[in-house]
Amino acid sequence: MAGQASNLLLASLPPACRNSLIARLKPVTLPLRTALYEPDETPKFAHFITSGIASIVISMSDGASSEVGVWGTEGLVESFHLLGRARIPTRCFIQMDATALRMPFKELQKEFLEKAEVRQSVLQCVQSQGFILGQLAACNRLHEAEERLARWLLMVRDRVQSEAYFLTQEFMANMLGARRTTVTAAAGELQRKGLIKYSRGRVSIVDPEGLERNACECYRTVKKLYLDFYSGTAPA
Ligand SMILES: [Zn+2]
Repeated sequence: MAGQASNLLLASLPPACRNSLIARLKPVTLPLRTALYEPDETPKFAHFITSGIASIVISMSDGASSEVGVWGTEGLVESFHLLGRARIPTRCFIQMDATALRMPFKELQKEFLEKAEVRQSVLQCVQSQGFILGQLAACNRLHEAEERLARWLLMVRDRVQSEAYFLTQEFMANMLGARRTTVTAAAGELQRKGLIKYSRGRVSIVDPEGLERNACECYRTVKKLYLDFYSGTAPA
């Protein structure tokens, strides 16, 4: 089955355990804006992303929303739901066309409860995601829009493994917790410095090293967390 090795959590499982799961996982294509789970609901499926990006978003009572995390090929989208019965107030949907391997959530929940190897990998995934959420919360509070945008563009680059990709301004604004005008200004400044090209939603990273120098320290911190947690199997 194509794509089975491109999810880092699946790849981290012992072969027998991984093959047993893969035999029951179905490949699916997930177009832009597909909802993976809604607030306060038990997910119908568990998704191991094999390409693309999903966003975790919190909505406020006035309708404003902000992205609080992302899932790419590093983990299991519904991993927090496996930990207990608490209602999860976030929603998650596809931000960049994605593919995934999925199975009914209840089936994976049974595996999680019965198999130590699955439990260990999921807990490791949740632990790394928890640290990353904390880092990004501090980042959004302390770092300027331009360095955050540089950090974000590099994180997306690592997940889609391409220097060029499409991103909507809405996505970037949500991700940065900033107004569109702020995002436009930050993207314009990165473009003026010759680090990226941005036109009609298409981002091209022209100078990756320069972009990394312009990104806040959170890019390297988050990348190191992945490298540490997945023992060198994280995206380069
Ligand atoms: Zn930062």
